[in-house]
Amino acid sequence: MLIQIDKLKRRPRQISIDEQATSFPFLADLIEQGAVVFNATINGTCEATWVGDAIEVTGQLATTVTTPCCRCLMPVVSQLDIPVMLSYAGNDEEESPVVEEIELQDNDVSLIPFSGPEIDLRLDLDQEVIMALPQQPLCQEICQGLCPVCGCNLNKDSCDCEPPVFHAGLDALKNFKVKQ
Ligand SMILES: [Zn+2]
Ligand SMILES: [Zn+2]
Repeated sequence: MLIQIDKLKRRPRQISIDEQATSFPFLADLIEQGAVVFNATINGTCEATWVGDAIEVTGQLATTVTTPCCRCLMPVVSQLDIPVMLSYAGNDEEESPVVEEIELQDNDVSLIPFSGPEIDLRLDLDQEVIMALPQQPLCQEICQGLCPVCGCNLNKDSCDCEPPVFHAGLDALKNFKVKQ
């Protein structure tokens, strides 16, 4: 996932990606914490193009993940389609005024600074995949979740638990009277 900038100036480059999620440092952390299981490699194609003083990397990645339902914790499988749109701006000392100019002109795209002869996409693609992970996965729209008292899965079982008593502070409001 390295882009050699010199070669890129001559022509755009296709980058095929087919990587284990564990080879991305932030994803590897999430996997180790048990927050997500990847059922496939992260795969797809990106194209890197030299545009003036910036480098644009666009493409599409895909994978499938299993994450716990946010209400009942049962596993939920999600297909992820991850659009990639990264812009890098050169960070050479002599050319720094140019970078500022680009930033002023183009407020919508956040430019990632780079220096040196090559760009490593790994950390930025890592971020893109993290942002594409399901935020609040649900096993079904009407998931009933877990009973807050006994913990049984209310999609499958029922229980006779009393609904939990709310904070006493709310009870006090019932007796609240405005003084005449
Ligand atoms: Zn659920
Ligand atoms: Zn219960």
